[in-house]
Amino acid sequence: MTEFTGKAVFGGIAVGLASVYRKKDSTVEKRKVEDSQKEWERFEEAVETAKEELQALYDRVAEEAGEESAMVFEVHQMMLEDDDYLESIEDMIKEENLNAEYAVSATGDSFAEMFSEMEDEYMQGRAADIKDVSSRVVRILSGGADETAKSDVPVILLADDLAPSETVQLDKSKILSFVTRFGSTNSHTSILARTMNIPALIGVDFPEDADMKEAIVDGFVGKLILEPDEKTLEHYRELLKKEEEKRELLEKLKGKENKTIDGREIRLFANIGSVSDVSEVLKNDAGGIGLFRSEFLYLESSDYPTEEEQFKAYKTVAEKMEGREVIIRTLDIGADKSCDYFGIEKEDNPALGYRAIRICLDRTDVFKTQLRAIYRASRFGCIGIMFPMIISVGEVKQIKEIVEEVKASLKEEGHEFGEVELGIMVETPAAVFMSEELAEEVDFFSIGTNDLTQYTLAIDRQNARLEKINDPHHPAVLRAIETTIKNGHKHGAWVGICGELAADTSLTETFLRMGVDELSVSPSRVLSVRDAIRKTDLSK
Ligand code: PEP
Ligand code: MG
Repeated sequence: MTEFTGKAVFGGIAVGLASVYRKKDSTVEKRKVEDSQKEWERFEEAVETAKEELQALYDRVAEEAGEESAMVFEVHQMMLEDDDYLESIEDMIKEENLNAEYAVSATGDSFAEMFSEMEDEYMQGRAADIKDVSSRVVRILSGGADETAKSDVPVILLADDLAPSETVQLDKSKILSFVTRFGSTNSHTSILARTMNIPALIGVDFPEDADMKEAIVDGFVGKLILEPDEKTLEHYRELLKKEEEKRELLEKLKGKENKTIDGREIRLFANIGSVSDVSEVLKNDAGGIGLFRSEFLYLESSDYPTEEEQFKAYKTVAEKMEGREVIIRTLDIGADKSCDYFGIEKEDNPALGYRAIRICLDRTDVFKTQLRAIYRASRFGCIGIMFPMIISVGEVKQIKEIVEEVKASLKEEGHEFGEVELGIMVETPAAVFMSEELAEEVDFFSIGTNDLTQYTLAIDRQNARLEKINDPHHPAVLRAIETTIKNGHKHGAWVGICGELAADTSLTETFLRMGVDELSVSPSRVLSVRDAIRKTDLSK
């Protein structure tokens, strides 16, 4: 039995056979051609075929997992239209009389190397894409079919990393878990694992001969076990059975009310970080979306997302939720979420620095673009907006003035929009202390316990060394939550909790006793929180 550690990007347990995913041998022959014009035309035809394949993939994935997941194929199509890329291939074919397969493959490799050396993480991530799209063209030039990895039994898939086009072409009913050597939390493999609700690990240095060996993935602690001994296997089979039983029991709660034994009902919503997460929200029967982290639009892009791009994303979510409320949090970058194109200078204390609403109130052009997109999308469903990192009433007044400006200009341009609730995240001690005055200004509060804990306890939420003293149940945090709920209600604002603590079922009763109106948790936690609510009796 051998154990390998890595970083878990999605929790859960998988027990099954390991399958090492190997890319087909793609050695490309280098040769001289006689008629370079004809070779160029052969390349152009292959590019057309590649674009058709990519469009078909885009359509399929957009339908299955939403436009955001399919976007990668649009990027691939754009890469095939890039002047520098095409010029390099043309030079090799026409000037050096080289065959198209070689020209494409060599260009793909050198562009990938160039991308991977860039500082910008987004651009580094595109190295895999340029290689992927180049391999597609090489395969077409060599007359190969568009094949997918196939396996008859469900397996734990081990790979160096998976190219986006490989992940979508996999037969998903045959995969129990993903384990990769490379990749990042935001890699496509991780995104897919999250969507598929299966455990996934990255950064695992598994051995090549792991293929077809018995394996276990523990997505709770980030561990891959190969050839487990009988006792370990027994332990994990037991865990798996318990997980399964829990899931089955929770399944029965779909369609049920979020009501305590003595009849108090609250709203149980879900948090999402991208458009494709909506399918999980619906699958887990959440009543709405209490936190839509809109940062993904900015983080996945190499430039400011346009109003149109944002509008499309918000509209899709609003429509898919069919009238249930969707609360969009405006841009919350800075600190751990950095976007190079914002040109934010390095800071000594980024968590206390230029971030979130502070950027938006400074860069009102960026802020207005987002607000315009949200308001335009508001007529396609029920949308609310909340603002992160608020510390003062002055900020909220400023925001409301900007919102009024945006609404006025949209009206003037003939755009229609719906009723939009406005709220703030309460995630700083300042907002807690000012909650009476702040409640007068807004429709609702949403308590961000992740940051509220960090700022209340003065413990950096990213610092692994402080893990031991980082106590989210600290009475100071709980008192801050209670104060916020009480003051919100006193001045007519409803109050929800959307930080990780909202899913902590050991606190559900406490929150209900405090009078919370809404809990918003990750989609996979909705049913267990519903279970906890239904087991609570506030009359006792
Ligand atoms: C929070 O701080 O609790 C929160 C929900 O926001 P984020 O985790 O995105 O900072
Ligand atoms: Mg926060």
